[in-house]
Amino acid sequence: MQFKEVIGQNPIKKQLVNLFQQNRLSHALLFLGKEGTGGMAMARAFAQYLVCEKVNGREPSAQQPGSLFDELPDNSATAASLPLTDSCGICPACMKAKALVHPDIHFIYPVISKKPGDKPVSNDYAKEWRIFQEKQPYGNLYDWIQFIGETYKVSGVENKQGNINAQECNEIIRKLSLKSFESIYKIMLLWMPELLSKEGNRLLKIIEEPPPDTLFILVAENDTLLLPTLLSRLQLVKLPPLTMQDIAATLELRNGVPLKKAEQIALLSEGNYHEALELLLHNDDDWELLLRNWLNCIVKTALPTQVKWIEDISKIGREKQKQFLLYFIQVLEHAIRLRISGALENPQSAEIQATQVDFAGKLNKICDHSQQEAIIRELDQAYYQIERNANAKILFHALTIRLYHIISNNSVILMQ
Ligand SMILES: [Zn+2]
Repeated sequence: MQFKEVIGQNPIKKQLVNLFQQNRLSHALLFLGKEGTGGMAMARAFAQYLVCEKVNGREPSAQQPGSLFDELPDNSATAASLPLTDSCGICPACMKAKALVHPDIHFIYPVISKKPGDKPVSNDYAKEWRIFQEKQPYGNLYDWIQFIGETYKVSGVENKQGNINAQECNEIIRKLSLKSFESIYKIMLLWMPELLSKEGNRLLKIIEEPPPDTLFILVAENDTLLLPTLLSRLQLVKLPPLTMQDIAATLELRNGVPLKKAEQIALLSEGNYHEALELLLHNDDDWELLLRNWLNCIVKTALPTQVKWIEDISKIGREKQKQFLLYFIQVLEHAIRLRISGALENPQSAEIQATQVDFAGKLNKICDHSQQEAIIRELDQAYYQIERNANAKILFHALTIRLYHIISNNSVILMQ
C-alpha cells in the first residue's frame, strides 16, 4: 500500500516522511487513532515506504545499506536531489510489501482459537490476514475476528474478541533475533496492542533495547488500555478523525456514490471511514422502519411483538446494532433541535428533510426534552456495551424495559 492509497491524513504522511528523512525515527512508534482513521493503512504504507528500493536509493547492486537510526542513511544524497514522499509502488520490495509477503515486514494481530485448547499465533492466520487486508484495509477488530471465525466455522465467534498471547510474544522475540533478509531493517507491525494485556510485559525489554535496525509500529485505537510502561517507550503519532471532505471524496471516487449522498454519509460518519462504509450498506429507511416498530411495541406494551423485535435485532450482528443505535441517537438529536429552533440544521434534500421533520415531530409528541436526553444516555450506554461484547438479546431486552419506563409517562400518542 502506498501513502496515496491512504485516505487523507496528509500532515501525518508528511510527518512520517520527515522523521525518516531527517533520521529522527524512534525504534518504536505508536500510531494512535480511533476506528476508521486509517492507522493500519498508514502503518502498511509507512512500512512499504521504508523498504522501498527507490526510497532507499538501492537500485539493484547499489550502495551498501546504511543504518536506520544511528547515522544518516545512504539515501540522503538521493533524497536531496529527489525527495520521495511515497514508495514507488513498483520495485520488488514494494510489490512484496503490497502483497503482505515482504520477509522483513512482520504482522502481529489478535487471533482466536480454532478449537478449545489451541494456542494460535498470527502466522497461523497469515493467509486470512492477507485476504482481509486486501478486502478491508479499514476493517476493525470485530470484522477481522468474524472473518476468521467464519472461515474456520468457530462456534460462538460473535462473542469472541481475540487476543495476543504469550506464545505470540515469544514468536516476536524469536523473529527479531533473525537477521533481516532483504531490507536494511526488520519491521514489526503490531495491530491492536490493547489486547496484549499482561503479555505486553514480555515485550517491554525488546522494545526498549531492540536488536539493531528494528522498528516496531504499534497500531492502537485506545491508549488507556495500554500498559503505561509500554506507552512510555513509544513515539506517538496521533491520527485525528478524517475530514468530512476526505470521506466524501473517497466515497465518491472509490464507491461511485453521488457527491450529495457521499456528503450526507460523511457528515454522519464523524471522521470514521469504517462507519461511512457501514452507513453506505444500510439505507436509513430500514432503520426508520425498525425504529418505528420498536417504539410502537414499547408504547403499546405489546409483549409478543417486543419479544419478536428483540429476537430480530439480536440476529443482525453487532455492527448493525451499533448503526441502529447511532441512527436513533441522531433522530433524537434532530427532535431536540426541531423543538428548539423549529427547523433542522444542515437541510439535505427536501424529501429527506420532510421525512425527518415528520418523524422528529412524532418523537417530540411521545417524549419531552429531558426524556429524550435520558434515552440518548441509555443508547450511548448500550452502544458502549455492544462494543464490549454484551449479549445482544439481554441488552435489547433491558433497553426496551428502560425506554418503556422513560417514555411511559407520556405515551398516549402512538408512533404511526
Ligand atoms: Zn518501491
